[in-house]
Amino acid sequence: MSQNAAPLTFEVTRRQDLRPDAEREAVLASPGFGTTFTDHMALATWTPGEGWHDARIRAYGPLSLMPSAAVLHYAQEIFEGLKAYRHEDGSVWSFRPEVNAARFARSACRLALPELPEGDFTGSIKALVEVDRDWVPAAGGEASLYLRPFMFASESFLGVRPAAEVTYGVIASPAGAYFKGGLRPVSIWVSEEYVRAAPGGTGAAKCGGNYAASLAAQEEASAHGCDQVVFLDGLERRWVEELGGMNLFFVFRDGRVLTPELNGSILEGVTRLSIIELAKEFGYDVAEARVSIEQWREGAASGEIAEVFACGTAAVVTPVGRLVWDGGEVTVGGGEVGEATARIRQALLDIQHGRTPDTHGWMTRLV
Ligand SMILES: *Cc1c(COP(=O)(O)O)cnc(C)c1O
Repeated sequence: MSQNAAPLTFEVTRRQDLRPDAEREAVLASPGFGTTFTDHMALATWTPGEGWHDARIRAYGPLSLMPSAAVLHYAQEIFEGLKAYRHEDGSVWSFRPEVNAARFARSACRLALPELPEGDFTGSIKALVEVDRDWVPAAGGEASLYLRPFMFASESFLGVRPAAEVTYGVIASPAGAYFKGGLRPVSIWVSEEYVRAAPGGTGAAKCGGNYAASLAAQEEASAHGCDQVVFLDGLERRWVEELGGMNLFFVFRDGRVLTPELNGSILEGVTRLSIIELAKEFGYDVAEARVSIEQWREGAASGEIAEVFACGTAAVVTPVGRLVWDGGEVTVGGGEVGEATARIRQALLDIQHGRTPDTHGWMTRLV
């Protein structure tokens, strides 16, 4: 769709009523996830005539939207998730934002939304983090500032066609270590009734609709005492795809590492992509291939599959300790945090938080 020739400049209007220092410090001392937002947000508007325009940083607060806004009816919406990390010298960095920008563009294409150029995606993040830099948690731990770019059909119109007015935004929220009491293996429920995505559908796009469709399955998982749900492919209901918002890796006893191959309905995670590279460097025999649910059950039971972990920006790397389905369950990796899982997780965190040299060129300085 339409491309802007000149990069956007995000005009900054600083709010006068900044959150008091003590309040912000209290949030940063115990951030949780996705509950508190920074003082500002980034916004931009797109129309067919003007392309992207009116790029601005303003006070975080309610948006004004007509009840007829297309997104509320037809879910023409996409989002991204990445983080800003404070390093020991006070500088603030993000991890492979250009890969998020490229995925955002692919998601936009699938949802018939206008593409936001990569420079404007990173420009919006830089502009917001610059203004709200005091909200980036201190160096030294696992805390970071979670960034949530999103785009939706804001046009007031009930006809079914791509919207002629689109809003782009970025909000930011301090995020603590995902596992407060230390790393804990999670339990996974196999969804046999629901699928997340199907061939030709929107599974490879990061769109809100995929998440809406995953909630009933997640509820089913909770009802069975599980933390997360794993989805199988939509055609044969046999091949392991991913969790509601995290990709999966299997570590075999013989040193092979497998992750389900991209098939058009799996979301291509930035964490997944990076772990494929790191695991290769660590000497594992890494492959992207199909993994069946029987192979997982039997491999976990026999010990051939030594470790399973999930990965994504929010939780980084999450060990899986138990697989549960209608009629049975199996312990995975002895229910413990495996060696490869712990090593890969630490390596990734050390790069992101600047505790290890960035030999891959994965980090981009924001502030
Ligand atoms: C965002 C997301 C992931 C993880 O992607 P990262 O880029 O690693 O954060 C995995 N699966 C789904 C469905 C997602 O939406």
